[in-house]
Amino acid sequence: MPRYSRNCLPVILLACWVCGVAASPAERLGEAVRFQTISYQDTGQIVYTRFEAFQRYLRDSFPLVFSKLEVETVNEYSLLLRWTGSNAALAPVLFTAHMDVVPVEPGTEKDWQHPPFAGVVADGRIYGRGTLDDKVGVMGLLEAIEQLLADGFSPQRTLVFAFGHDEEIGGTSGAAALAARMRELGLHFDWMVDEGGMLVSDNPILQDKTMAMVNIAEKGYLTLILEATGEGGHSSNPPEVSTIGRLSNALARIEAKPFPPQLTGPVVAMFEALAPHVGQPQRIVFENLWITDGLVARMMAGERSTTPFVRTTTALTMFNAGVKENVVPQRAEARVNFRLLPGDSPDMVVDYITEVVDDPLVNVRYEEWDNLPGVADYGSGGFLVIKSAVESVYPDAVVVPSLLTATTDTRHYVDLVDNQYRFHGVEMATSQATSIHGTDEYVGVASYEKSIDIARKMIELAAR
Ligand SMILES: [Zn+2]
Repeated sequence: MPRYSRNCLPVILLACWVCGVAASPAERLGEAVRFQTISYQDTGQIVYTRFEAFQRYLRDSFPLVFSKLEVETVNEYSLLLRWTGSNAALAPVLFTAHMDVVPVEPGTEKDWQHPPFAGVVADGRIYGRGTLDDKVGVMGLLEAIEQLLADGFSPQRTLVFAFGHDEEIGGTSGAAALAARMRELGLHFDWMVDEGGMLVSDNPILQDKTMAMVNIAEKGYLTLILEATGEGGHSSNPPEVSTIGRLSNALARIEAKPFPPQLTGPVVAMFEALAPHVGQPQRIVFENLWITDGLVARMMAGERSTTPFVRTTTALTMFNAGVKENVVPQRAEARVNFRLLPGDSPDMVVDYITEVVDDPLVNVRYEEWDNLPGVADYGSGGFLVIKSAVESVYPDAVVVPSLLTATTDTRHYVDLVDNQYRFHGVEMATSQATSIHGTDEYVGVASYEKSIDIARKMIELAAR
């Protein structure tokens, strides 16, 4: 939906020339990209003044949002916006997104068609780091609210919008602080929607139809620390088994013994929803998962791209031992990162790994993550709101529940929300997936404009 009628154009152009505010949603998203709100693992590298400048930009760009909603800055750089509804008996709904982005891998800047932080709008696309993850979410929601306010819309149900500033490094300063503030305010939400799911335009099994994946669950996150200790000493007189050898053996056993594949609830729900829309032989397989589930799980486990959907994955990510070439270390440490299927718990993983390692001299420990997100309802409430909103903009889309194989800020809100969904209404091709956190991240202008229409519809329907 165009935001301004044609006869307003001279006034808009004049206003833009005077105040420097970009004229279209695409240009505003491009401008948002130019604020390099980068989260670094080493937090000392983070330039917080860029986050402050980005917030000033948001305030200038969305004057109605920032004057009509109750706005709070939480933990200095995160934003909490409350749009109070007329009916206090209705449980509120939460919309979230994050303002930070990942860095561009040093040395790859020149591989981009347009510089990653230039926010170039060209060839029907908006280029830059954050265009898909996740400035599109922040800007899209703000565009939608601004439009609704301009049209005089007011919600019956209270709507809350929370934008964290450190999702890419775990959300412990942003989303966790936002959640703490919401607890203080006594908020409890019927449902929420965060980033994660999107519309996929070229799923091969759906031929011409777009698939909207609304994630009803996400995988859990767990890192195990494995430590081998033993005799060290001079390398001229080494022990029979070194700590490095002992730990290497343990890791080799772990990698050789992945978790068995299985179809969990969200993945079964996805195939069941897809079944009526696919041709044979997939249809008969999807319609009879009670008998074909083992086969489907094994086939998916055989492909690197689909294996995360069907197993708790094991990734050996760090190995540290030794300080000098002629010293046998007394200690070796490794980290193994697991992404847990719904239903698997950290204790189950520790038990399984301890059994596989089968060496009392290798210690296994972990820092517990106690907020494992649950599986949301996909037959009512928020799911149906999201589905209707998508279908109002993409009438032929097949909307399916799905499992997010990555993690989001939603885990910080588990105790505050009955049902958690993950979906921003952006349509993309599967080839664009690698650009998220990679090179040439972009979003189509038409896709972005439609995502704003979806966000607007979601807000309108949620507000009832
Ligand atoms: Zn993200």
